[in-house]
Amino acid sequence: MATTTLSPFIASTPFLLQPLKVAKPTSHSLPSKPFILCTSQNRPGSSSKKHSTNGGRPTSKNRRRSSYGTSRRSILKKTFNQEQVDFTAPIPDDPIVGIIGGGMSGLICALNLEKRGIKSTVFDTGIHGLGGRMGTRVIEPQQLVFDHAAQFFTVSDARFAEIVNDWREKGLVEEWQGTVGELEAGGQFVPLPSSPPRYIGVNGMRPLADSLLLETSMVNVVRPCWISKLEPFNGMWHLSENGKHCGQFDAIVIAHNGKCANRLLASSGLPLIARQMKRLELSSIWALLAAFEDPLTLPSNMVTPPFEGAFVKGVDSISWMANNSRKLLKSPDNGPYCWTFFSTSAYGKRNKVPQENIPVATAEKVKAGMLAGVEMALGLPEGLLPKPIYTRVQLWGAALPMNSPGIPCIFDPRGRAGICGDWLLGSSLESAALSGIALANQVADYFQGGGARPEEFAVGLHQEFQPLEGHDIGQFPGLDSETQKDGVQNYQLTT
Ligand SMILES: Cc1cc2nc3c(=O)[nH]c(=O)nc-3n(C[C@H](O)[C@H](O)[C@H](O)COP(=O)(O)OP(=O)(O)OC[C@H]3O[C@@H](n4cnc5c(N)ncnc54)[C@H](O)[C@@H]3O)c2cc1C
Repeated sequence: MATTTLSPFIASTPFLLQPLKVAKPTSHSLPSKPFILCTSQNRPGSSSKKHSTNGGRPTSKNRRRSSYGTSRRSILKKTFNQEQVDFTAPIPDDPIVGIIGGGMSGLICALNLEKRGIKSTVFDTGIHGLGGRMGTRVIEPQQLVFDHAAQFFTVSDARFAEIVNDWREKGLVEEWQGTVGELEAGGQFVPLPSSPPRYIGVNGMRPLADSLLLETSMVNVVRPCWISKLEPFNGMWHLSENGKHCGQFDAIVIAHNGKCANRLLASSGLPLIARQMKRLELSSIWALLAAFEDPLTLPSNMVTPPFEGAFVKGVDSISWMANNSRKLLKSPDNGPYCWTFFSTSAYGKRNKVPQENIPVATAEKVKAGMLAGVEMALGLPEGLLPKPIYTRVQLWGAALPMNSPGIPCIFDPRGRAGICGDWLLGSSLESAALSGIALANQVADYFQGGGARPEEFAVGLHQEFQPLEGHDIGQFPGLDSETQKDGVQNYQLTT
């Protein structure tokens, strides 16, 4: 008979499941904190080789019992120290991992779990596709195209180079040949060296994310799906979306961050993971996507051809601008001309609103402020920037990490839960990928050990955070922030 056993501290609370057994703390329990011991001899679906999309639905009997957590939510919210869940059930022969987040880090984690023979299901909120902050927007019927978060990436690690080489072989990635540089307010443009090379998605960033899992056979993707609850029960993690059961898993990966992750972890039974997530500070950045009928007038000191990307300096509302038509469509002579503009993080902070519900007045104000910033950056007289034929503003409320523990991943073996994401190592696509690889290997090593000696597999649960240097849209070799980094290699890709 499967049981969920709680420590004496918790056993006295009124919201317990039945049957209950008071457990003696195990040798690896936290002495000063309450914990939930979660064990199962009779795990639903543990012997099944079938990898179902929902991870195996619970029976009506345990569905009732898995209401664990609902009545306790309000109590736990008020509890400063939530109790630590402690899984002690043996790891099954065929474990499944639930990955919450289908951005670069979550997808790479799934891919690398498969390489180690482990199945997973990736849940992602994306309505238009996977990728998170690797988003590309195509606006029909005008055929406007914008990378609306990550713009390009660099490669400094052999493991990331392998992924990028694979994309190159498939024709999905190419070196960005366009001129990129720094643009001072008033229109002074200084090109940056083309080495280390910058890479772009041939059809934008999103197809790269979509391609990552195409050849996998052990990864399910569930999208759009917003996981709103994690519940440890019967030796497994039960995931649900607004009360709808989404499956049960032997371990979970949190591959997203920000307010959403903090809310999800607040009453999950993972206090150490939750605490690390809460330490993360994130910037906010406004994106303005704008299409113009005619080419923008670029600074007169510009070399020809005109720049395609610029880190903007000395303008409060703009930190980056890129000509997406030239970058992606390579059509210098035909309009419309699609530009992606990003605000500075200071401007994002000052004009922050709920990103899912942007007031019209704020959107208008930000649009005007950012277009004025573009004018200023290009050194155009006031009012001379042409009126765009299409605009869209979007707030990245959890844009980029401002601090980091500087470790590739976080893993709590007692709670069978880990975190991956860009912020663990830095603020770039490369750091997100490396984090996904690291967590996949950590989980696989832990599973291989049968779940024994959990203390040996704990990573990053108490790591201190340091402020992150970098540009408002990330860290890139070749820019000031990166010259301070020791040992950074830059890879020339093979294909
Ligand atoms: C404006 C901007 C510009 C940038 N420019 C660059 C650049 O030029 N070069 C570069 O290298 N990097 C850039 N970055 C950074 C880069 O985009 C990120 O480092 C990287 O994409 C992060 O990947 P991730 O997997 O850690 O997180 P994300 O991409 O954020 O993925 C997390 C995913 O989880 C999903 N999710 C969240 N909550 C849930 C839930 N409860 N249930 C299910 N799914 C959920 C989200 O929808 C998202 O898809 C930029 C970022 C921003 C914001």
